Amino acid sequence: MEKIVINTPVVRSEILVGENWESVRGMLPQRGVVIITDDNVRRLYGENFPAFPVFSVLPGEDSKKLTVIESLAEKLLDTGVDRTGFLLAIGGGVVCDIGGFLASVYMRGIRCGYVSTTLLAQVDASTGGKNGVNLGGTKNMLGCIRQPEFVICDPGMLFTLPDKEYLSGLSELIKTAVIGDRDLFELIERNHTEILKRDPELLAKLISGSVKFKAEVVTADELETGLRRILNFGHTYGHAIEMQTSVPHGFAVASGMELATEFSYEKGYIGAQEKYRITDLLNRFTLLTDYKIPDDQMGQLILRDKKKSGTDINFVFTEGIGKASVRKINLNEVIDFYKRFRDKKK
Ligand code: ADP
Ligand code: ZN
Repeated sequence: MEKIVINTPVVRSEILVGENWESVRGMLPQRGVVIITDDNVRRLYGENFPAFPVFSVLPGEDSKKLTVIESLAEKLLDTGVDRTGFLLAIGGGVVCDIGGFLASVYMRGIRCGYVSTTLLAQVDASTGGKNGVNLGGTKNMLGCIRQPEFVICDPGMLFTLPDKEYLSGLSELIKTAVIGDRDLFELIERNHTEILKRDPELLAKLISGSVKFKAEVVTADELETGLRRILNFGHTYGHAIEMQTSVPHGFAVASGMELATEFSYEKGYIGAQEKYRITDLLNRFTLLTDYKIPDDQMGQLILRDKKKSGTDINFVFTEGIGKASVRKINLNEVIDFYKRFRDKKK
């Protein structure tokens, strides 16, 4: 088991990679605990949940909305949870986002911890304290940054994950490797078959590599005023693709990374061979699809996602495997590159 600590001025957050999830029992207060989960996770693991009230939401991104937060908050109130309460979220990114947000606002904030049950949540979503719900079609419009006290990442729970969800998580793992950890990238390159077999020991290594890098970045820049922005590699185009096609997050981000990598190559920040290694790795895990989004639509989607009408955005480029940079560029440039990329594919 590996423990990675995030120390911010306000809180100390522990991420436990390779820990058996059932040991969460020993990390909870004796009373005032409630568990938030979704119906799939409850069906698979509910029998072994610690003995506290369980509130379950419908699986999927659709549950990330204010009405769900409101109805859960009413349930907490009815259960008698007060300011000394503790919220335990057991689930993937959606459940951790909902749970983290609810814990942040319920009675102006109660304690919380996560058991992350998807690869996406383990490598990415539940490190860093971002939580939130969607507003209409716009992702994560309402939310805040607040670290849970602990996050348990048990790779053994990933055996039950549908293939599509597993691969989606792999994409974020590859993202971390591309922007910050060359060794991690090579470990993924060398272990294609073992990764697809979901070998828990190997997964623990990969997950802790990813969490370590993310923890460093978040510790340095919790509120995303600078360095933390590099974590958005692949997400400018990725979010647009996700809004338009509703494919799992990681698949959209994979195509976003392909675009960002090609863009970096065009700008001269990365060589042809490294560019090939990145797109080849994404391809080997069957993460790339041509979504055929028309150029003008892509422009509108990016604008909506950036939640602004301004002309410049912070775009993340790769400067070779393991190194990334954030540069302010004009939105039209981002849209024009997309056009060129699409024309080449035709
Ligand atoms: P993500 O973590 O990818 O953001 P979700 O929280 O929506 O997304 O989880 C993706 C899907 O996987 C959901 O349908 C959820 O119920 C299901 N799920 C979560 N954890 C597991 C697991 N360990 N085994 C099987 N299915 C799971
Ligand atoms: Zn992401």
